This record gives sequence, structure tokens and C-alpha cells, in this order.
Amino acid sequence: MGGREATMVLLDENGIRCDGRKVDETRRVMIKAGGLKNADGSAYIEFGDNKIVAGVFGPRDVHPKHMSDTDTGILRVRYHMEPFSVGERKNPAPSRREIEISKVIKEALEPAVMLEMFPRTVVDVFIEVLQADGGTRCAALSAASVALADAGIPMRDMVAACAAGKVADTVILDVNNEEDQAGQADMPMGYMPTLEKITLLQLDGILTPEEYEKCVEIGIKGCMQVYELQKKALSEKYFDGENGKGGRGQKR
Ligand code: ADP
Repeated sequence: MGGREATMVLLDENGIRCDGRKVDETRRVMIKAGGLKNADGSAYIEFGDNKIVAGVFGPRDVHPKHMSDTDTGILRVRYHMEPFSVGERKNPAPSRREIEISKVIKEALEPAVMLEMFPRTVVDVFIEVLQADGGTRCAALSAASVALADAGIPMRDMVAACAAGKVADTVILDVNNEEDQAGQADMPMGYMPTLEKITLLQLDGILTPEEYEKCVEIGIKGCMQVYELQKKALSEKYFDGENGKGGRGQKR
């Protein structure tokens, strides 16, 4: 971080960012609930140039059995990037980064999912990043949340996610790949909008306490925008779509 800032204009004199956005503007977000007929629940998200699909299976029996918990269900998350998702072919084998992101997404979803209702079972979430452009963990988390709801898994709340960050000493919303590489800070956040609880907060870079507070504030605003689109995606499938018409529509 910070290395290439001198050669790249991340924020011009009019406060416009390298992709034409204002400081408090997210990229274009599109979320679709469902779409995979063989998964119990699924979702597709485009978050700027990120394109990600999430598929959910479960609750179902745990294999290997010794991993099951008699008191509660368990959640497993696999975040995976396709070899063609980044500029240079990525090795399809799971990298340290993918293992880390799988873990943080799982931990960010756990407070929302009512796993205690399904002892001895597992809910699996598979996330495939088709195209990456910075902020994939937030986009993936938002899609996974919709896929869980689509699978009918009881949840306390949705988890909506968006990053805040800092470029050119200015706090910004929704950090893209260039800003992540050359900027000063990237702070991905996951948020349960109804319960008003943060379930994911990471920080890569350095912020003053004031900048941190501003990032949290603006980050929550970004999450709220994503939340509206998550609800819209579910309502389009179940209430407004061809199958819905005011009632609960067909699964896929
Ligand atoms: P996030 O995608 O959540 O921001 P990172 O900060 O680790 O996670 O990655 C930032 C961005 O760097 C990714 O979204 C992707 O565009 C790019 N990136 C990640 N891994 C690779 C890779 N192996 N090769 C090229 N670019 C990558």
C-alpha cells in the first residue's frame, strides 16, 4: 500500500476519484437472488467490475461425521477465485489469501445464521469469484448472505458489506482495486443493518482515530445501500418476479 501513489492520481482537485466517483459513492451494484438450479440457495453479485456467484447447500449431514456438533449446526465457507478472475492467471489451488477470506466470511456470517436450530448438520457456502477488482470479500459476503436467505436458512438479519478507506489523505467509500493497491487504507466492513451490529471489520493501512470513525460511519452507509439491494433481489425473486406476483414464488 502507498507504493505507487506518486505516479497515480487517485483523487483530482475536484474531489473525483480515478474511476469518476465522488468520495462517498459506491460502484454500481447489481444483486440477483437464485439462478443456480442445483444449489439449495444462490446469488449473483456485480459490484463494480467484481463478478461473484455464491451457492448454498444445507442444512445437511456433516461429513466427516466427527466434525458435527450435537448442540448446533456448523457453517462452512469456501471462497475461491477462478484462474481467469485476475489479470495474470491465478493458480486454482487455494492460496493463503483465499483461506483467510473464507475464514473471515464464515465468521462474519455466523452471528446472523441461526445454526442452533439445526444441530448435527452443516450449511456449506461456496463462493466463486469470476472477476475480481478490489473488494471481493465484501461483495462475496453480501452475495453469500442473499444465497443463505434464498436457501431458506433462518437468519437473525442480513449481512451487508462494503469497504471504506483512505486515498490522498481523504476518507472514501468502496475501495476499488487501484485504490487498494496505491491508496493509504482499506477497511472492509460487514454489518447487520437491523441489529446494528458489525460482523466484519478489517483494516489494511493506517488511519487516525478521527479517520477511523469517519470510515466506520461512511462504511455503514455503504452497507445500508447494499442492504437495500439485497432486499430488492430477494423480493424480486419471491414477490415481484414471474413466480411471485405477491405470493411466495417458486424456488428457482
Ligand atoms: P479484496 O478483494 O477483498 O479487496 P484483497 O485486498 O486481498 O481482497 O485483494 C484486493 C484485490 O487484489 C482483489 O480484489 C483482486 O482484484 C486483486 N488480487 C487478489 N489476488 C490476486 C492475484 N492472485 N493476482 C492478481 N490480482 C489479485
